[in-house]
Amino acid sequence: MGMYFSGFATRTGEGCEDSVRRLARELDAADAVLVGAGAGLFTSAGLTYSGERLARYFSDFVRKYHFADMYSGGFYSFTSESERWGFWSRYIWINRYAPIPSDTYKQLYDLVKDKDYFVLTTNVDHCFQRSGFDRGRLFYTQGDYGLWQCSKPCHDATYDNESVVRSMVLAQGFSISGDGTLELSPGGLDACGRMVPERLAPRCPVCGRPMSMNLRADDTFVEDAGWHRAAARYQDFVRRHEGCRMLLLVLGVGGNTPVIIKYPFWRMTASSRKATYACVNLGESFCPREIVGQSVLLDAGITQVLRDVAREL
Ligand SMILES: [Zn+2]
Repeated sequence: MGMYFSGFATRTGEGCEDSVRRLARELDAADAVLVGAGAGLFTSAGLTYSGERLARYFSDFVRKYHFADMYSGGFYSFTSESERWGFWSRYIWINRYAPIPSDTYKQLYDLVKDKDYFVLTTNVDHCFQRSGFDRGRLFYTQGDYGLWQCSKPCHDATYDNESVVRSMVLAQGFSISGDGTLELSPGGLDACGRMVPERLAPRCPVCGRPMSMNLRADDTFVEDAGWHRAAARYQDFVRRHEGCRMLLLVLGVGGNTPVIIKYPFWRMTASSRKATYACVNLGESFCPREIVGQSVLLDAGITQVLRDVAREL
């Protein structure tokens, strides 16, 4: 890319309140807003992988496999397909189809909905679309909990899993309330089998192999037609707004996959003096020194910052 950064800054010299005010001002003045969102946003919305949610829905699996959070549980080799889908169906349901526990995403939507916006995210939970964001303005680069693919894969298509996942959790003795909340049976998890009937284990309609999650964990990840269309729309958004007054707003992006969001956002900021880079991340908010004058860095909770910004507008 021909652009190298010399070091990092964690502060812009402003206090937190000044930064919030500046972020509100930049948002208000921006012609376009490009949001980059990572796992920290998902967690800020109350979608945690450990603690109460883990105990509530997975204590039977934890007793057997001793994983510390449900995300790690996804990497275990279970004893059978039936048990594997017992685990995954609960995981998919509570993180993809059950109600989002807080209005963090709705707050963000309210801040950007009247702007020309686009969202690039490594999250796979579909919270943006479920909170009102236009699906034509989203690019989920790493997959979707709501999609399956052939495990080989023998072809590049993905398949909606909602109705089968629903059958899987019901078969384990859970019920699903009207708003989509996964409810335990009166006997709790002990009364609930960890298994789903073998007939529900999904098979590839083309080759008959087991299906797998459409998540970028290794090189079997399927980039289907929808993925390619979203990628093209993202590139188009960036191209159309070159040189515009653009706010690049990064929320909850950690250090795991910097090539997807952070590095390109830094480069875009450095290459346009009308661009502003804003980063909100509790415990990890920094930018290259070269763009510190164009940056708003907030080492703070995302939900609180969004609320404070809305109040400033
Ligand atoms: Zn196949």
